[in-house]
Amino acid sequence: MLTQEIIREKAREYGADLIGFGDVALFDGTDPRRDPRSILWNATCIIGFAIRVPRALYETAERGYQYMNLTQMGVKVIDEEFSEIFLLKMARLIENAGYDACVQRRVSNLKIKGDMTQNPEVMDTYELIHAEPVSADKPAPEIIIDFAQAAEICGMGKKGRSGSILTPAFGPFQRFVFLITNMPIEQFDKPFTDNLCDSCGACEKACKGHAISENGLDTWQCSVYYRGAHESNPYMTDEILKDEPDREAILKGEKRFDRESARAIYPKLSFLPMHLTGYAPMLCGKACDLACYRHLKEVGKL
Ligand code: SF4
Ligand code: SF4
Repeated sequence: MLTQEIIREKAREYGADLIGFGDVALFDGTDPRRDPRSILWNATCIIGFAIRVPRALYETAERGYQYMNLTQMGVKVIDEEFSEIFLLKMARLIENAGYDACVQRRVSNLKIKGDMTQNPEVMDTYELIHAEPVSADKPAPEIIIDFAQAAEICGMGKKGRSGSILTPAFGPFQRFVFLITNMPIEQFDKPFTDNLCDSCGACEKACKGHAISENGLDTWQCSVYYRGAHESNPYMTDEILKDEPDREAILKGEKRFDRESARAIYPKLSFLPMHLTGYAPMLCGKACDLACYRHLKEVGKL
């Protein structure tokens, strides 16, 4: 008989570093377009898995030595390769036992209608403005669960000011996948209630693009500096952005970008190849996450 313990063991064997079992009833009140029960009508549980990202990749970028490995191994490979194989193996385990297993990898480049944020990790995102429900009793497709909400319900961690999900094991250095199932569950994990983020502002200070404030992450501002608009980018040359009247303010991280102005400047920020993978090179080294990790270590939360 398939038990939660077997799922935990197998998930670890297949490469997950953290595992949590969340009660789908805790999604009550959630927008149906983000509710796992809109994906699997008789769902009982959402299982969260976190895959650790090596911290040294960020430190290497901070020192200015290497950025592509961080982008490829820290984002693309985990989301596009590792997670998919991992989820398919976990789904096989659960479906062989007679239950359904809806696998949920990160939907990197789609946003539900009305979600006007950006995902700085990808070349661009597409808002599903034309999505209409197939019948009156159903929400419009695609259903895209909120990974931060799901991680919290699975008892794994909580979103900090920087927008990253923080866990007591790895701080901001992991990526998540989920699986929605109708398998009966004996014991759900308790939702995560700790406040790992103490609003220290270290992430805010570390971001050269001033993309973080006490209101959280400005994803459009982040997307511009993530791909290297700052003068600290070692690939920056005098030619790049030379026709921009605000060039100096841009390079110093002082100009504010919104959806239109960010998208207008993307084509001018071409430093490392991204067309083959669709993932933007992480030329800010995600300094916000490294600063957060160091802070959490310093105050004994990790
Ligand atoms: S650096 Fe401080 S403010 Fe930023 S997410 Fe981490 S704990 Fe929160
Ligand atoms: S450090 Fe990079 S990832 Fe973090 S908020 Fe700034 S631009 Fe975005």
